Amino acid sequence: MAKRDYYEILGVDRNASKEEIKKAYRKLARQYHPDVNKDDPSATDKFKEAKEAYETLSDDQKKAHYDQFGHTDPNQGFGGDADFGGGFGDIFDMFFGGGGARRRDPNAPRQGADLQYTMTLTFEEAAFGLEKDIEIPREETCKTCNGSGAKPGTTPDTCSHCNGTGQLNVEQSTPFGRIVNRRVCHYCQGTGKIIKEKCQTCGGDGRVKTRKKIHIKIPAGVDEGQQIRVSGQGEAGINGGPSGDLYVVFTIKPHKFFERDGDDVFCEVPLNFAQATLGDEIEVPTLYGKVKLKIPAGTQTGTHFRLKGKGIKNVRGYGQGDQHVTVTLVTPKQLSDRERELFRELSEISGKPLAEENGSFFSRVKRAFKTD
Ligand SMILES: [Zn+2]
Ligand SMILES: [Zn+2]
Repeated sequence: MAKRDYYEILGVDRNASKEEIKKAYRKLARQYHPDVNKDDPSATDKFKEAKEAYETLSDDQKKAHYDQFGHTDPNQGFGGDADFGGGFGDIFDMFFGGGGARRRDPNAPRQGADLQYTMTLTFEEAAFGLEKDIEIPREETCKTCNGSGAKPGTTPDTCSHCNGTGQLNVEQSTPFGRIVNRRVCHYCQGTGKIIKEKCQTCGGDGRVKTRKKIHIKIPAGVDEGQQIRVSGQGEAGINGGPSGDLYVVFTIKPHKFFERDGDDVFCEVPLNFAQATLGDEIEVPTLYGKVKLKIPAGTQTGTHFRLKGKGIKNVRGYGQGDQHVTVTLVTPKQLSDRERELFRELSEISGKPLAEENGSFFSRVKRAFKTD
């Protein structure tokens, strides 16, 4: 078999940078990875080819040698008893995370997957906390077969093709020597076991999809994006491994009146001129019911009042936030004749009589721009 040019294999230019070579390789590795191409044996060859090309072109010394002499060095590439099997595990780790161990020993206990559940809370629920039952879809150990996947009364046999290792060594002769490839055993799909009579409940998987009801205690004070971990409530472990964890992530609905920043609550309260001018005592809604707030005479719009301890309890138990009230002066838009009369009178008393009531502003503007 004539070897293809390494640059051609990776589809890169001879002047390609290290980064470009790496990128090209990663793309091919992902595309032809044996674990995602179980039905296509030619993918494995392409994968190995790309790996070999990358191993040479990513190494300055080997690359220099290759650039000068081509495929000549018997100590590299398809030489001797190169075992690319371990490489699969490594690359699997690199791209898929944690899978390497699985390849190495299919019977080792593995922790089940973590699950994430997003829960929407009202503003008040987040502030005060609550207990709630949630239903989450997840995989559980099949109770019929206790996870073995075999019909009750029977046990799975050790796969005779791979002797329970889940991997097969495939030898191949090439002009450059003998290669031993380790591949996932396709008789047992890498599990190392053959189930003759499958459990009818789970169809041999040993796990079943269920909806599990879980009781969750949500602490007072949780905020947008925070999460709680419910230990052991993720998916069931494999081969007797521990279950994964459940992460409940909170998202909080906006409130029509309150806003929140950390443990503090913010709101805006409207005041009319009389209240702001003469002072008043108003009622302000808080999370804990209405609270009286004294507005001193001469309060300006935008003035900020603090209601101490009326905010949200800190989720970690570090005290309690405050409620911040900002008052806004609201200019009346619709006046009765009597109100209009009083405002004019007020204006006169204060020494700033108003011009004609209708169109006064425009007539003043016109006057100002009159040139003759
Ligand atoms: Zn079962
Ligand atoms: Zn096998």
